[in-house]
Amino acid sequence: MMKILVVSDLHDHKLETIVPKEILDNIDFIISAGDYQENYPYPKEAIGVYGNHDTDPGATLITVNHKMKEYKGMTFMGIEGVFCGEKRYHNPKRKRSHHQLESEVKGFLEHQPRVTFFITHSRADNIFNRYTDGSKAFRQYIEDKQPVFYISGHCSHPDKTMMIGKTICINPHGNLWDYVVLTLPEKKVEFYVRGRNQPI
Ligand SMILES: [Zn+2]
Ligand SMILES: [Zn+2]
Repeated sequence: MMKILVVSDLHDHKLETIVPKEILDNIDFIISAGDYQENYPYPKEAIGVYGNHDTDPGATLITVNHKMKEYKGMTFMGIEGVFCGEKRYHNPKRKRSHHQLESEVKGFLEHQPRVTFFITHSRADNIFNRYTDGSKAFRQYIEDKQPVFYISGHCSHPDKTMMIGKTICINPHGNLWDYVVLTLPEKKVEFYVRGRNQPI
């Protein structure tokens, strides 16, 4: 059995203040969908992507932006940053931007195989209800290749999980600074309110 902590958009909140120690002690590793701060190293090994608020990364994230990586016997692939279609978004306050054009992403994803985890900071189009302006390339990849899990950051909407075909889509940022524990191989997805050690 494997337990994975899934987080995104903790922003200035140190992970250890959101996730109780007894949970952290019991997880195998962390998946992050971005917008954490480089000043706070992850308390366990973390894999995922950067968001639009991460600056130059000094933290310990194993990044899977624009590449597929094998890790713990599973496959991970992701896309960092946010999108403004064909306009490259840039935040002048940041040392480094983590953004790509929709066309670059589309060209990349068309050639990718099915993976266990598809992780993006920006959201797929028509997902978690409120937003219809997400990435069509993400949505197409999910529909065509059916990754086992899709994890999206950046999306503060209370919808937490949904299916696209056989893909389990998870929004760890449904309420600010909540977190998710995923148990494999059962594919059990549990949502926690920050600071609590019992799922909701
Ligand atoms: Zn954010
Ligand atoms: Zn963001």
